[in-house]
Amino acid sequence: MENRILGLHHITAIAGNAKENFDFYTKVLGLRMVKKTVNFDDPGTYHFYFGDEVGTPGSILTFFPWEGIGQGYTGTGMATNIGYSVPEGSLGFWAERFKQFNVRHEDTLERFGEQILPFQDPDGLKLDLIVPSDSDNRKPWVTSEVNEQVATKGFHSITLTLKNIKATATILTDIFGYKLLKQEGDTYRFITDAIKNAAVVDLIEAPNTPPGRGAAGTNHHVAFRVKDDNMLMEYREKIAVKGLSITPKIDRDYFFSLYFREPGGVLFELATDNPGFTRDEPVDQLGSRLKLPKQYEGSRAEIEKVLPRLD
Ligand code: ZN
Repeated sequence: MENRILGLHHITAIAGNAKENFDFYTKVLGLRMVKKTVNFDDPGTYHFYFGDEVGTPGSILTFFPWEGIGQGYTGTGMATNIGYSVPEGSLGFWAERFKQFNVRHEDTLERFGEQILPFQDPDGLKLDLIVPSDSDNRKPWVTSEVNEQVATKGFHSITLTLKNIKATATILTDIFGYKLLKQEGDTYRFITDAIKNAAVVDLIEAPNTPPGRGAAGTNHHVAFRVKDDNMLMEYREKIAVKGLSITPKIDRDYFFSLYFREPGGVLFELATDNPGFTRDEPVDQLGSRLKLPKQYEGSRAEIEKVLPRLD
């Protein structure tokens, strides 16, 4: 298992307002903020990480809240739906909670034999709560309002919408080790057996759908999980020999990364388990302080002044 792609590592999306984003994910959805830092390429912007207690790979949703970026829209060449795994019997609780907090949501539906509750975050980002057909034993983060019987357990899946799925499917099967599980309409479900959860990628083939626009309410990239730096560099080689252009290894402080654009247009990242979110904060304090990479520590006062307030 250790020399394979281990499902999803994290998903990164774009928000328009930092406080709204923070409130929605920590309060309404009940995730833990496991790291509050800045965009390493744009330190006047936050980078939020929401996940389970320790930010286990496969549970991490991250955001760049770019104030004033404007509304994006989904289309082809993008990740278009984030699926969270939730316990059986929890969808009624969530539908009620979404009503209470005026969260845009749809009626429960069924796809690939699983019950799904589609909803949107304040920026219109599309997410699904999914009761998986296989049991999910991951331990959720719980809050005073979202208990263990209903709390999200991390990702179930990511959905990519593509003009044509063929080249992307080949990356998943030939490099990442996924297999086509089944097809329902224009949706093709790929899964890896290298890991039990966050193991699904759904590809929607939509030849007549125009490309999306990446801004608030859309996904920025999808990161797949590898065990460590050695595995990361092995995959770098496997991707490069297919003729795809891929970045060098980048230190993201909490993991090491490579980025490449897959042929369908979606930005993919490979990210390591090491060193993890506890490298600069103990577990019980994760996300409580603004953490800056060392190149910005000297500018902390100026950075804290320009970042929006969250309280
Ligand atoms: Zn990333």
